[in-house]
Amino acid sequence: MTSFDPVMADLDPYCNAVVRRLSLTTRQQREEGFRAAGYNPFRLPARLVTIDALSDSGTGALSIEQRAASARADERYATSESWERFAGALRSLSGFEHIIPCTQGRTAESVVFSTMLSAGQFSVSNTHFDTTSANVQLAGATPVNLPCPEAADLDSDHPFKGNIDVAALEALLAGPDGHRVGLVLMTITNNGGGGQPVSIANLRATREICQRYRVPMFLDAARYAENAWLVIRREAEFADATPREVAGVEFDLADGFVISLKKDPMSPGGGAIGIRDENLAAAFRGRVIATAGFATYGGMTGETLEEAAQGIEESVDPAYLRSRERTGQLLADVARDAGVDSIRPAGLHAIYLNAGRLMQHIPPAQFPGHSLAVALYLQGGIRSSELGSLYLGELDDEFRLVTPAPFELVRLALPRRVYTENHIRYVGSVLAEVAKDPQRWPGYRIVRAPAMLRPFEAWYDQVPAQ
Ligand SMILES: *Cc1c(COP(=O)(O)O)cnc(C)c1O
Repeated sequence: MTSFDPVMADLDPYCNAVVRRLSLTTRQQREEGFRAAGYNPFRLPARLVTIDALSDSGTGALSIEQRAASARADERYATSESWERFAGALRSLSGFEHIIPCTQGRTAESVVFSTMLSAGQFSVSNTHFDTTSANVQLAGATPVNLPCPEAADLDSDHPFKGNIDVAALEALLAGPDGHRVGLVLMTITNNGGGGQPVSIANLRATREICQRYRVPMFLDAARYAENAWLVIRREAEFADATPREVAGVEFDLADGFVISLKKDPMSPGGGAIGIRDENLAAAFRGRVIATAGFATYGGMTGETLEEAAQGIEESVDPAYLRSRERTGQLLADVARDAGVDSIRPAGLHAIYLNAGRLMQHIPPAQFPGHSLAVALYLQGGIRSSELGSLYLGELDDEFRLVTPAPFELVRLALPRRVYTENHIRYVGSVLAEVAKDPQRWPGYRIVRAPAMLRPFEAWYDQVPAQ
């Protein structure tokens, strides 16, 4: 691993080059703004948000090198120089010959699943991300999640809770439904599973099983660099490797990958597919041309191709990943000091607060995670999102909870290179204030919502304490 001069080991390797002013609001503005938005963080105007921890997707700060790269964007229709630089960067990172850009990660998913999966088949994963799950279903197939058993204990320090349960995967493939498995998709890091990493040992074991049963293995590689960093930290074999080397090992084990370029590659937009098989590459290109754009831009602009190409280089910088790890750890620490538990061990792209434990006075049917997310906003202008019964539970036609989610969580996502230690400590002080007397925060009920994509469109109202 790259060694750091100890004097500079804990120094954030950035300073501000261009800044955006934070909106500073009053309690009254927040109360009125959130009520008018039906208490839905996805409807709340961003101008009323002070610390935006809603998503790490496309929210990273661009570097001056990315800005410089975008100035030389080549927008020609086919085989542009921006495409060459982009494909070169992703080829050299992944070792894949066939690289196909597209508009977002979810476009890549749609293209891959609609080509490779048919009705009645399964896609098996450590955990499908939400759009991934939806695209498997749109292809007529069924998503099957097989997270490792350690993932169920939020408080343990198991280093690789993002792993797939290899015994369950093998049992499924060897069983009567084995022939229905169309592909295995490993999400690194496991976003739906608390942002926890997947070990190389687990990827290797999965690879071996997939080969034995002749099932293709894909990566959902949005966070290949953060996963690589946690492998370096937690898997002894790789303690001395560089992030780029470990990322290479991750990609080497796969037959194909889908990627959102808005995560680790720090691009404002874009996605891509990588594939080894020539025939599949041709089929994917056909679908991308039909739905997103010609196969050397796939709906991306020359500017985003350039920003992604440069972002890929920066994503595997050890000094950057180390400071990102410190930010995640600091957020977990300030939350704990405030009396709020989060999924252990701390990940890099987000911290998942245990709202079920903090908001014990609110039953799952009144969405304790949502209550905490609203409280964080009203108290301090922090926008986050619920990952609990609202998002994952099963509701009836009148929006009453039928089956709660296993955990009531709130995700605080960390945009890349955006917030400083001062901002994170502020989040800690808001959390401390919220957690001082949790009983005063009410539960919520859904007033109206569409059948699909409920959390994005719903309107909520407060349920006064009994
Ligand atoms: C964000 C994300 C996607 C979808 O990518 P978009 O670019 O937002 O369409 C897929 N998988 C994972 C793991 C993600 O985090």
